[in-house]
Amino acid sequence: MNQTIVSHSPKASFSCLDHIKSCFGCICPCFYPNVFGSQAYKALDLGPQKEDRKTLVLDLDETLVHSSVFPTNFHDFQIEVSSGGQSFTFYVHKRPDLDAFLKLVSDIYEVVIFTASLESYANPVIDLIAPWIPLTHRFFRKHCISYNGFFVKDVSRLNRPISSILICDNAPISYVLNRKNGIEVKSFMGEKDDKELLSVLYPLLKKLVEVPDVTQVYLKQKSQ
Ligand SMILES: [Mg+2]
Repeated sequence: MNQTIVSHSPKASFSCLDHIKSCFGCICPCFYPNVFGSQAYKALDLGPQKEDRKTLVLDLDETLVHSSVFPTNFHDFQIEVSSGGQSFTFYVHKRPDLDAFLKLVSDIYEVVIFTASLESYANPVIDLIAPWIPLTHRFFRKHCISYNGFFVKDVSRLNRPISSILICDNAPISYVLNRKNGIEVKSFMGEKDDKELLSVLYPLLKKLVEVPDVTQVYLKQKSQ
């Protein structure tokens, strides 16, 4: 019997960042064809499972952080990224309660970050927000597949049981191939009063730890 647990999020929304960030972030490249290349079913190797925990796959941009090429007075840190002979500065806002959230979920889940952004941008960000996440647990645009013009994260490629994988992402299209594993997270655009991580997402994840098969749980959306 399906279980109903959750509570979550608003209507699907897709970020429209500025032109430069579109080179690095998870913006739809509309020219991509609807194809499943050989990459589609190639395993994403997390290495051997060290503990009997579920695997929590977290998106980066607009889920854990918000980055902009425009300086602000309240960003948490900035990084320099080189691409195509040019250097770009990104001003990064950590989502409120990010440090506490990552600590709490890492106590009960095997944590993975899977972003559609380029590695050259995302890896330095992960190094600053969660340096303890090993390289084997970081996946980038090159690990996505293109599907109807979007970068899609097929978590069934991870070498873990699909019944024990959850993916949290502000863009539901990211987990369109694994809808039963997906949790939509409200997009974070730098709001100081955002409460999503500790007030909404963590309580839900804490409940899902106890579920034998996450694909049997109906992740009810508020918008439905
Ligand atoms: Mg995102």
